[in-house]
Amino acid sequence: MKAAELNNKKFEIKELPSVHLKEGQTGAVVKVDACGLCGSDIVKIFTGVAKDGSVLGHEVVGHIVEINTRTDFEVGDRVVLGHHVPCFNCQYCYGESYSMCEQFKSTNIYPGGFSEYIYVSELHLENTVFKANYSIPDEHAIFTEPVACCLRAVKRLKLTQGSKVLVIGLGSIGLLTGQLLRYVGYQPYGADILDERIKLAEEYGFEGVFKVTDKDLKEQVKEITKYGFDGIFLSAGSDSSVELAKSLVRNGGTILVFSSSKTNVGYLHNDIYYRELTVIGSYSPSPLDLEESYDIIERGKIRLDELVHEYKLENINQALEDTLSNKIMKACIRL
Ligand SMILES: [Zn+2]
Ligand SMILES: [Zn+2]
Repeated sequence: MKAAELNNKKFEIKELPSVHLKEGQTGAVVKVDACGLCGSDIVKIFTGVAKDGSVLGHEVVGHIVEINTRTDFEVGDRVVLGHHVPCFNCQYCYGESYSMCEQFKSTNIYPGGFSEYIYVSELHLENTVFKANYSIPDEHAIFTEPVACCLRAVKRLKLTQGSKVLVIGLGSIGLLTGQLLRYVGYQPYGADILDERIKLAEEYGFEGVFKVTDKDLKEQVKEITKYGFDGIFLSAGSDSSVELAKSLVRNGGTILVFSSSKTNVGYLHNDIYYRELTVIGSYSPSPLDLEESYDIIERGKIRLDELVHEYKLENINQALEDTLSNKIMKACIRL
């Protein structure tokens, strides 16, 4: 089977032994039809977390070709899936910190979504695999996992209805988040440096969109919010965006951290104390978020068309390059 293996910060198309269920082995083999290239894949490539020879990709839509299971999935089912499965029975899971659960971290699909076939365990089938309707195109179905990540983050904000929330960074995650903020009852605002993304955010129903480099940005924000934003959703990872978040959140407001920063820049202790700031992280979705996310996509509650560009597996390096240069927002890799 064809797969894109990592080699020296690039993908290399290789012929790997095909994945099959062994005699008596439970789980399923899924033929991958498409897989999204995630920002986290790119971070893993350039920080060296993903080793040479590994196969990345987890935003999968495909169909089951082999199965041995207690669940009611069958060969031929079209599915979307999440790659990590929490145990629901540990201190982390009880506290809803599912992505910190040891089982969550140790479970995965094999070898990875940028591969023609993947193995999906029984545990996955029971928790993080969902039947997908044929009416949803592949290039929408691949958003199940990223939308679930954003949905969990939006829920963790826990602000009052109608709160004004600023999304800093209007790539695909930012534009998804704006729509989800609206979906749960907040007023989404956006900020970016790229004009075309600002324009798109306006089309996507953001209440207002700011250009980060505007000299009078703070005055503009003050005019709209008086004291600053109730919440900030930080989907950009630059150090300056962290500073921007601190300067635009109101006293008593919440900053939701949804990106890594290159220099691991911090929040000042006294800011948090005297300004009563809440800084909260959100990493990866729970199975419940995945289910709800798929439902939101199936019901057409969020707009996705302008966010996604399709590439053949053979052109995955071009997809990586185009994402890095901000030429596109989300690459959907076809297998
Ligand atoms: Zn992802
Ligand atoms: Zn657990």
